[in-house]
Amino acid sequence: MMAHQTAQRAAIRRVFEEAKRPLGPQEVLIAAQTLVPKLGLTTVYRTLKSLVRDGWLMIVDLPGEPSRYECATTDQHAWFECRVCKRVFQAPGECQGVSTLIPKGFELTSYKLVLYGACAECRETGTSLGESVPSGEGFDKPSSERSGDLEAGTSA
Ligand SMILES: [Zn+2]
Repeated sequence: MMAHQTAQRAAIRRVFEEAKRPLGPQEVLIAAQTLVPKLGLTTVYRTLKSLVRDGWLMIVDLPGEPSRYECATTDQHAWFECRVCKRVFQAPGECQGVSTLIPKGFELTSYKLVLYGACAECRETGTSLGESVPSGEGFDKPSSERSGDLEAGTSA
């Protein structure tokens, strides 16, 4: 019984170590099932919770997205979400310009940066983002409201 649980836990940890990016429970399930075929989603949820409690995983909550999880070994602030395959990747490095965004007199304690676009794999397969970017958020597409300004700019 105990050995069984340990094997499941080890499999889930290995999935995260190999993925090196934030994973949702469903992604964890699919990857971990290649190691432990009988693994179920309930066990995945329970193990994720337990690994967060142990400080091994941390929760990555991106705006409008269900929680993902990643190894808590890195001090991660920036992620890249592929609009095509919906996978989330770690964005390497620190955002150097972040201090320039802070209003005068304010103190920054933490930040979270999400970049959106197409991952290398999706670009390679030729999946075009083009104009078909899902526009769930209204603030993503200010171009239509701005068209008046642009016309004024070009005619001047
Ligand atoms: Zn992709």
